Amino acid sequence: MEKSKVLIIGGTGYIGKKLVKASLGLGHETYVLQRPDIGLDIDKLQLLFSFKEQGAKLLRASLDDHQSLVNAVKQVDVVISAVAGVPFRGHHILQQLKLVDAIKEAGNIKRFLPSEFGTDPARMKHALEPGRATYDDKMVVRKAIEEANIPYTYISANGFAGYFLGGLCQFAQITPYVESVVLYGDGNVKGIYVDEDDIAMYTIKTIDDSRTLNKTVYIRPPKNILSQREVVQIWEKLIGKELQKSSISVQEFLSSMKGKPYEMQSGMVHYYHVCFEGCLTNFEIGEDGVEASQLYPEINYTTAHEYLKRFL
Ligand code: NAP
Repeated sequence: MEKSKVLIIGGTGYIGKKLVKASLGLGHETYVLQRPDIGLDIDKLQLLFSFKEQGAKLLRASLDDHQSLVNAVKQVDVVISAVAGVPFRGHHILQQLKLVDAIKEAGNIKRFLPSEFGTDPARMKHALEPGRATYDDKMVVRKAIEEANIPYTYISANGFAGYFLGGLCQFAQITPYVESVVLYGDGNVKGIYVDEDDIAMYTIKTIDDSRTLNKTVYIRPPKNILSQREVVQIWEKLIGKELQKSSISVQEFLSSMKGKPYEMQSGMVHYYHVCFEGCLTNFEIGEDGVEASQLYPEINYTTAHEYLKRFL
């Protein structure tokens, strides 16, 4: 079967650049949207050039110029968006409504993957303010996709390993301490933490797969379904030492949000739902979903142990 041509929007972002790499690596003709709003961002420009060197094609188009987007979309079969969606880096999820309009008009797209890559927003109607904006806006985009009858796949990637594992699941920390750790409650709530290169590989695998058409793909690598305590134990084994443990209760955690900047509060809400509530693991996958590591057992995913070894 011929591999789909892929256009990646937000290709210069944290997960976007991994999607570009995986798409090229899996042999897809890969296009990356180059937005005119580059300003003096010389690093972004160099990154775009490096994509070109690796075989990607750059397509100049703007989310604010409908016709340029339609023209870009018409050149490919699949569109994957990875536009920013965490407030401390930028939150542009609703910009994708313009993309939905362009895909609708172009009429040729076999699959659209909007920028999701986290907790399943459909299960977060009860989420706390202000973090719920991430989920609410992603649901607005889903509604527009479905109303336009655009074939889709939603990727529920769970926690990025880079944010969660490195900091032993502690908010706003991306490297592990060697002396102590603060546990959320009893530290026994299970989360799921996935290496970002693996997320990108699973994502690209789904695009030509009929089993994932109009489904949510949950990425649940079995060895990476772990409680915070289990993450800490893996780290302790690696460093050959037990960390001093203290604990923060859910009430203390939530009241510590008060007075913090909006971006911080938003991130803390996401951590609350993952680490206290267990929103990544407290449900079975239903008929509208499939699990990635079962669909693609050939992907030799990075375990939490392998990931944490990088910090030694
Ligand atoms: P990011 O690196 O912050 O940004 C991605 C890209 O968005 C940028 O490189 C840029 O790409 C584009 N962008 C920036 N400003 C824009 C604007 N004004 N309008 C349109 N596009 C703009 O994004 P990210 O952190 O990878 O997040 C991508 C997705 O992953 C989001 O849906 C987010 O919620 C999710 N996420 C999940 C987790 C998790 O733990 N599961 C963690 C973080 C993020 P170009 O300039 O190349 O267009």
